[in-house]
Amino acid sequence: MNYQDFFAEELTRLKDEGNYRHFAELERHNGAFPAATCHNGPGEVTIWCSNDYLGMGQHPKVLDAMHEALDRTGAGAGGTRNISGTTHDHVLLEAELADLHGKEAALLFTSGYVSNWAALGTLCSRIPGLVVLSDALNHASMIEGIRHSRAQKVIWKHNDLEDLEAKLQAIPANQPKLIAFESVYSMDGDIAPIAEICDLADRYGAMTYLDEVHAVGLYGPRGGGVAEREGLMDRLTVIEGTLGKAFGVMGGYIASSAALCDFVRSFASGFIFTTALPPAVAAGAAASIRHLKESIAERQAHQDRVAEVRARLDGIGLPHIENPSHIIPVMVGDPVKCRFISDRLLADHGIYIQPINYPTVPKGTERLRITPSPVHSAEDIDRLIGALEALWTECQLARLPMAAQ
Ligand code: PMP
Repeated sequence: MNYQDFFAEELTRLKDEGNYRHFAELERHNGAFPAATCHNGPGEVTIWCSNDYLGMGQHPKVLDAMHEALDRTGAGAGGTRNISGTTHDHVLLEAELADLHGKEAALLFTSGYVSNWAALGTLCSRIPGLVVLSDALNHASMIEGIRHSRAQKVIWKHNDLEDLEAKLQAIPANQPKLIAFESVYSMDGDIAPIAEICDLADRYGAMTYLDEVHAVGLYGPRGGGVAEREGLMDRLTVIEGTLGKAFGVMGGYIASSAALCDFVRSFASGFIFTTALPPAVAAGAAASIRHLKESIAERQAHQDRVAEVRARLDGIGLPHIENPSHIIPVMVGDPVKCRFISDRLLADHGIYIQPINYPTVPKGTERLRITPSPVHSAEDIDRLIGALEALWTECQLARLPMAAQ
């Protein structure tokens, strides 16, 4: 086999299918996010699709904590957690996370992806006879962790309690079970019925594993996520989150009982055999969490900005999914037009929104996933709405009746 030809042919196939992923090469401007320079594009741009939902990636408290830790401890952790890489900053961060979720303990990983992959992989493979019930729209990191575990897997229809119950009923009562799901689903922005899922878990003797990656920092009085807002944290067996989105830094974690965290710590290869996060990253994340526990200003401003963008989209009749979260999927419904609008937004208007096409979302539901943040200005919103309106007209895309009023 000619390996290089094989790689090239596969990439050509991907390009022909329209599924090849292009990077926008950005340089974020500290203190000026969402402004950035797009080095392989038009220069100065405004980012409208970042998961740094609150702009915490440039918050002075976060940066000060990272500078301080860098000066105090140096660049890297110097080892895996077991072999010299557990620093005081890691331990403090885990305590901060356990407190955030009202759990006995927390366990850090190098990313949210790794935390799902490692924790689910370990729990599902190490508990004899466990059946995992996985929501149909779970994130790739959960799917990969479950797949890797080789446990028996049952997929239930997305957010469908009847289907979940039917599937729980079909499993023998004495067989261990784990229900894995998310709170805020990242592409549609819908939210799981967490209380009802916990009720079913109680009734059928199942553990619960909730991914709050798109909710931590953003919901709940102290930013503990949707489960905190709804007073449900103590009903969940495991809460998983990221430090890379609303907290603005990097890393992932689970929060749970001391025994479960210790169990995962002791058996998960994705925890054991990899270098720990740099202490400065841990210190920055801890500062971000501490700030958002005490301050609701960012969460409030975030919700206000989301409501404002939604209202402005309604004002020009652009179809977007109505959901109870901060994610605004503007529906284009055509992969070529979706890519075209994204390209033109960038080239002509200096607005960066990555198109979301198949296979990330089903065919016919191609979209622009807009994520407003408290640091987007009124002028940024005006420019976004003006540009979208012009491109919608140019692409002859349908508008909702409201626009005709
Ligand atoms: N879970 C969900 C639902 C996600 O959307 C993502 C990332 N997009 C992850 C986990 C992984 O988190 P991280 O980016 O910290 O690896």
